Amino acid sequence: MTVIEYAPAPESRALVRLEASYGLFVGGEFVAASGPSFATINPATEEVLAQVSEASAAGVDAAVKAARTAYTRVWSKLSGTDRGKYLFRIARLLQERAREFAVLETLDNGKPITQSRDVDIPLAAAHFFYHAGWADKLAYAVPPGPGGSTPAPLGVVGGIIPWNFPLLMLAWKVAPALAAGNTIVLKPAETTPLTALLFAQVCQEAELPPGVVNIVTGAGATGAALVAHPGVDKIAFTGSTAVGKQIARALAGTRTSATLELGGKGANIVFDDAPLDEAIEGIVGGIFFNQGHVCCAGSRLLVQESIADEVERRLKRRLATLRVGDPLDKNTDVGAINSRTQLDTIAGLAHVGEAEGAHRWDTGCALPEQGFWFRPTVFTGVTQTHRIAQEEIFGPVLSVLTFRTPAEAVAKANNTPYGLAAGIWTEKGSRLLWLADQLKAGVVWGNTYNQFDPTSPFGGVKESGYGREGGRHGLAAYLQGEGH
Ligand code: NAP
Ligand code: MG
Repeated sequence: MTVIEYAPAPESRALVRLEASYGLFVGGEFVAASGPSFATINPATEEVLAQVSEASAAGVDAAVKAARTAYTRVWSKLSGTDRGKYLFRIARLLQERAREFAVLETLDNGKPITQSRDVDIPLAAAHFFYHAGWADKLAYAVPPGPGGSTPAPLGVVGGIIPWNFPLLMLAWKVAPALAAGNTIVLKPAETTPLTALLFAQVCQEAELPPGVVNIVTGAGATGAALVAHPGVDKIAFTGSTAVGKQIARALAGTRTSATLELGGKGANIVFDDAPLDEAIEGIVGGIFFNQGHVCCAGSRLLVQESIADEVERRLKRRLATLRVGDPLDKNTDVGAINSRTQLDTIAGLAHVGEAEGAHRWDTGCALPEQGFWFRPTVFTGVTQTHRIAQEEIFGPVLSVLTFRTPAEAVAKANNTPYGLAAGIWTEKGSRLLWLADQLKAGVVWGNTYNQFDPTSPFGGVKESGYGREGGRHGLAAYLQGEGH
């Protein structure tokens, strides 16, 4: 195989101006940090990027109060048309500052710049554009409220998001919440708070009324304080199933509604009549995009036995071309693992895969000395009882299983506590539709993978959670009497 040499193509980090420390964003202002703070680092270099405030229960309380005041005095009194104008303004500012946001996301998260540039930031802006369009059309989005009235907002929303798509997950919460007429307190993940803080500046620039969006940085305890706050009307959570269960328990019996977008163990199912070149790209993108830190990752490859050897051969050949390294380089395909903790989890589960008897292979590529890295890894000979076939690894690790018949593919694909996403690769449309119907997953892709659009509802079944984000269904979950 010809090896192509690439010249370095680094994006400029000078596009980003970082403060040494950040306070909480409450009531339209950055509140000077007084209590404890923590460092957020670049996982590709372990360099400290900034100090960020850790919001205590009192900090969360101040943010919820600011959100309530903004809701009662301003936001709930505005027309949908006026709310829509603010959302359009935010969407345009995200586009104007897209390059800066992309660099900052890559610095704080470790994902390749091509992905933050081409996926995270444009999709985040698209979510604001899409929901801006709904703000004055809520009466057409959901059935009318009592007496034919336009459906009413819930009030104050608490949003809690993970670190894998920081700005995009923020957009998934903030855009529908505001379009529906709610105000919000958002807690970003501990390791990736910086684009949320830059978004706070965008809210100021858009002259969004103070208190409509509040950002409280911190770790799990800050999230728990937001969940426990009696002034929050709805919790919109994206994260792990374990924390989702804690939140469901904490909210049981209260009047606070919740949507939970949790983990997954997606099956990517490849039949012997599949277009193999496309399928290989779909398998690679399905698990190695964003270092495999993707809730809907196709982390289990189910391949028909008759083509298993051929698929394995082609897959390994393709993986050998992946470029792992500096996330700011535009040639990079696979970036840094987001944190040392996550790296330890991935390495631990990969070790278990070997110990349980699966065959481990990786690309053997060189890795940078500093930072958190894991080579793209494939396990073959995986059986359903192996932990790497059952548990979410949330890293660049693919588990390969085989099947003989469509019925066996269905049984194996559904043999997981999760039910978030799946992919099917086959030439036969009838088989694709039959199979899609049998799979217990919120999203099923046919001859493609990881397609996202703000108009399309996304969410899971079983232990992948409840509620949808995106589309009319996602919007409905931010209105009274709907979707919760
Ligand atoms: P996580 O540990 O559950 O954290 C998610 C968020 O919850 C973070 O902001 C976290 O804060 C916060 N948190 C932690 N403990 C909490 C508590 N007791 N009460 C309230 N909030 C708490 O998940 P993660 O490891 O960051 O993210 C990976 C998980 O998210 C994976 O399982 C993935 O599948 C899932 N995910 C799902 C979707 C979806 O749409 N279904 C999308 C993306 C990711 P800290 O980060 O500061 O600890
Ligand atoms: Mg970071």
